[in-house]
Amino acid sequence: MVEALASAENEQPQPLQHAANCPPWLSASFEHVLRRHEQGNLPHALLFSGSPELGKRWFSENVVRVLLCKNLQTNTGTRACGECPSCVQLDVGSSSEFRYLQPAGKSLTIRIDPIRELVEWLQLSAGADRYRIALISGADTMNRAAANALLKTLEEPAARTLCILVADRPAQLPPTLISRCQQIPLTVEDEPAALAWLSSHLGSDDAKAALEQACGAPLRAVRQAHPDWQAQQATIDAAWWNLFLHKRSVGAIVESLKEVPLTVCLSRFITLCAVAVRHRQGAAEFSPLKSLSAEQNAAIERLNSVQWFTIHDDLLRLHRIDSASFKTQTVLEGFLADTRLKIKG
Ligand SMILES: [Zn+2]
Repeated sequence: MVEALASAENEQPQPLQHAANCPPWLSASFEHVLRRHEQGNLPHALLFSGSPELGKRWFSENVVRVLLCKNLQTNTGTRACGECPSCVQLDVGSSSEFRYLQPAGKSLTIRIDPIRELVEWLQLSAGADRYRIALISGADTMNRAAANALLKTLEEPAARTLCILVADRPAQLPPTLISRCQQIPLTVEDEPAALAWLSSHLGSDDAKAALEQACGAPLRAVRQAHPDWQAQQATIDAAWWNLFLHKRSVGAIVESLKEVPLTVCLSRFITLCAVAVRHRQGAAEFSPLKSLSAEQNAAIERLNSVQWFTIHDDLLRLHRIDSASFKTQTVLEGFLADTRLKIKG
C-alpha cells in the first residue's frame, strides 16, 4: 500500500537536503522541541513560522531526523546517528516513515491532490513502534480546499503521527488550521552563532554587514553573496535608473529584465524606492546607497515625497497580487509606463 501510494505521487522520493545538524542560531528552539518529544508531550501538529530564508526547512528536517533515528547520539547535543536504517533511508529519500510536500506548479502553491495523498498516507495504520512524519514546507501557500482537507486529519490525528507545517506567513493559514497546531515562532536566537556560521561560509570577515543586508536571514546572506545574485541585482538597478534618468525606452528596459523573476525585480524596486523616499526626507545618511551620483540625486529630487510614496504603494500592490497569474512583461510594462508618466507630469 505504501509503495502504491508512493508511485501514485508521481514524484521522485525526496532525500533530506540539509546538513544533519540544527542551524546553530536555532538550537534553543531545537532543544525545546526535543525535550517535549522526550517527555512524550509533542502534539500531533507543529507549525514552525518565521521570516524567509531563516533556515526553517533545515531546522524541520533535523527535527524529523532526530524523531525518527533509532540510535540517537547525545554526547554533543542531541543528534541523529546518520547510520541506522531510518537515518540512511531519510538521506536517500526512501523512508517509509516520512513524506515531504512543497509548493509546486507555476503558481507555486500546494493543491488539494497532494494533500489528499498525504492525509491518506498519514492515516494508514502505523505499526506499534513506527512514527510517521509529514513535513509541509510553504504551508501558507495551500489553497482553501487543500487546507480544509488537511484540517480534517489534524482534528482526528492517527496515533503516532506528526504533521509539521512550515510557513513564512502563518497569518495566511486559516485560523481553524492554526488552532490545531502548536505554533513555534522561529527567529535568530543566537546572533553570534549565526555570524560564526556565516563567516565560515562566506570566507570573509564582513558577516555582520552581510547579515544586516539580508535583513537578518542567514541563508539569504549566503545567497546574496553569490556572483549570480549580485549580477542580477545590478541588472535590476540599471533598469531602475534607466527609467528615472530617461536613458532607455520602457520597451528596452522591460527587455533587459526578461531573465529576472518578477517577484525578485519588484522586491528590489521596492528597496530602491524606499531609498528614494528616505533620501527625499533628508535621511540620506541612512541610505544603503551612499554613493548616488549627482544625476541620480537629481532624479530623486525631481519627484516630491508624495509621488515617491505613490510609486512605493504601486510596487507593494503589484508585489502582493498573485503575479504568477500575470505575464511578467505585462506587469512591468504597465508599471514602468505609468511611472514614466508620473516623472514627466
Ligand atoms: Zn539514526
